[in-house]
Formats: sequence, C-alpha cells, structure tokens
Amino acid sequence: QMNERESMFLVSNFAKDYFHNLMLNTNQGKAIGLSYFKERGFREETIKKFDLGYCLDEWDNFTKAALEKGYDLKYLESTGLTIVKENKQFDRFKGRVMFPIHSMSGRILGFGGRILTNDKKAAKYLNSPESDIYHKSKILYGIYQAKKEIARQDNCYLVEGYTDVISFHQSGIENVVASSGTALTAEQIRLVNRLTKNITVLFDGDAAGIRASIRGIDLILEQGMNVKVVQFPDGEDPDSFAKSHSDSELAKYLEDSAQDFINFKVSLLIKDAKNDPVKKAGLIRDIVSSISKIPDSIQREVYIQECARIMEISEQVLFNEMAQLLSKSG
Ligand code: ATP
Ligand code: MN
Ligand code: MN
Ligand code: MN
Repeated sequence: QMNERESMFLVSNFAKDYFHNLMLNTNQGKAIGLSYFKERGFREETIKKFDLGYCLDEWDNFTKAALEKGYDLKYLESTGLTIVKENKQFDRFKGRVMFPIHSMSGRILGFGGRILTNDKKAAKYLNSPESDIYHKSKILYGIYQAKKEIARQDNCYLVEGYTDVISFHQSGIENVVASSGTALTAEQIRLVNRLTKNITVLFDGDAAGIRASIRGIDLILEQGMNVKVVQFPDGEDPDSFAKSHSDSELAKYLEDSAQDFINFKVSLLIKDAKNDPVKKAGLIRDIVSSISKIPDSIQREVYIQECARIMEISEQVLFNEMAQLLSKSG
C-alpha cells in the first residue's frame, strides 16, 4: 500500500516536470502554453514558482514519454494522468495548461488543468480524480508556497481559484490558499489551523462566491478560529482585482475592506432588514447561530456584545436565543 502511493507520487512528480519543461523549452509549449500564461500577465519567475506547465493537444504525448521512461501504466492510470479505454491510452489533460497541486511538504498530489479558451461548452478546469494520494476535500492549492508567510503574517487569505493564488503572489501577497472550487471542508480549514488562527475569506464577487463565504464562516468558527471577509465588486475575483490595481492599492483594499463576520452578514442583509422587523429578527438569529458555533464561551460573549450593539437589541435576548441553540446542538 505504501509502495503504491510512493509510485503514484513518483509518476506525479515526473508529470509535473514533464509538463513544465515542455512548456518552457519546446516550440509548441512556448507558443501555446507559455503564451497563454503570459497573456494573463504571469511572469516567468511566477510560472516557475508554481511549476506551471502545458500538456500537448495530442492523444498520448505525455503517456508515451512516461512509459518510455519506465513508469508503470498502472500508476499512470491510478493517478488519473492516463485514461485507458478499449486498450487505448490517452492523456487526461490533453490540450490544457497545468497547475500542479502540492502537499504541505511539497509532494505532487495531483493537477488542475485549464482549457485555453473561454468556451462555455467544455469544463473550464479538470482535476485529478480521487485516488490514494488525491483527496480533494483535504487539498488547499498553494499551501506549500504559502505556509511560511501564513505563519509569519499570522493570517491566511482564502480564495476560490488557482489563478487567484498565483496573482496574489505576483502582487506581493503570499499568505494565500485556494479551496479550488469545492465547497470548503473542515479538513481544509484544519490544514490552515496548524499555521494560524486567522482566516480572511476572499471569495468571488458573485452570488456563488457570497454563498460560499457564508458557508465557510461557520466551519471556520467551529474550529475556534477568527474569520474576516473581504468582498469584491460584482463580477470581480481576486485575480482580476489584483490585475487591475497596483500592489499597494490591493494591499490597502484588503486592509480597509476586511469585515468581521457579523458586519459581513449585516452588510448583506441590512438593506432588506432595516425596516422589516421580521427580516431583522431573521438576520439576528442567523448571526447568533454563527456565534453559537464558537467553542470558547468568552469569545462568544464578546461577539454577542458586538451583535447587540450593531443590531440595537439587548444582550439578554441574544444570550437567551444562543442558549436555546446550544442546548439543541448538545
Ligand atoms: P479563471 O480565472 O482561469 O477563469 P477562476 O479560478 O476564476 O478561473 P472560477 O470559475 O471562479 O474560475 O472557479 C474557481 C475555481 O473552481 C477554479 O480555480 C477551479 O479550481 C474550480 N473550477 C472552476 N470550474 C470548474 C470545473 N468546471 N470543474 C472543476 N473545477 C472547477
Ligand atoms: Mn466564480
Ligand atoms: Mn474566479
Ligand atoms: Mn478568474
């Protein structure tokens, strides 16, 4: 079992190098893969830092190279790098630019591959399939490149996408990881929890991003961590925002726009709730429900006080509501 995983790591590492070298050193790699990243504004040093690469748009260019080097088809298949169908082999990621996904210690767990167009019919990103080394619920893209800076800054920015992570690095912000489009999991947050108690959620400025932020907040609070939220203008994500602002503008925006989770929830709903007692009560319950997820009772009390002040309601009422929630959840 251990040897099987070891073999999967080895072939994944070969694939990372193969896609990377092909992109930097061959005519096709440069003309297609490298120019894609350059057009998106990624510099060569950034491309190297993240081991970005390209898989040729041929049926089995990568698979053939790996077999020639002596890698076993068994592991090419179990890592999902090669798809075997009716005795034919082909490259899962053919024609895509490649984002290798590193573990905390820098091993290659799998890949994300992006198509080069914005063709809505094809899946924009394709990821490695679940396997003995790739568990998508436990993966945080960028954790290897970010871990030192997360500890040093004592804060972790959490974004949705690969390119958000990479753009931030290029803009001088290195304490950043991505959930890579999956609904955030407790295991992902636990990885961050080893490095800092502070998470700032930076999801895309669209309805899906806001929904994901709301779900993420409770998961983070449950682990006794502090959570802030930065909202981006509608239609923007951290990558596009970073690209259209200078490094110092980005840093200032992150600093000035970070809201604690109570203010974030208030800001989302206050327009509706202001003159509507029923909606206002719903909002208050929602906030108290998040507060009830915090394990530490003193912290809960501090947040109850803040909520009471912002919502102009007595602390006692909020405590009673929270006591009910806590007794229900046991
Ligand atoms: P880009 O800037 O390259 O268009 P993005 O990161 O902004 O990509 P989003 O649509 O915001 O893309 O999605 C966020 C993340 O969700 C992606 O980085 C990727 O990890 C994941 N994702 C997006 N689309 C898919 C898909 N079709 N299948 C699997 N994962 C996806
Ligand atoms: Mn999105
Ligand atoms: Mn996005
Ligand atoms: Mn984007």
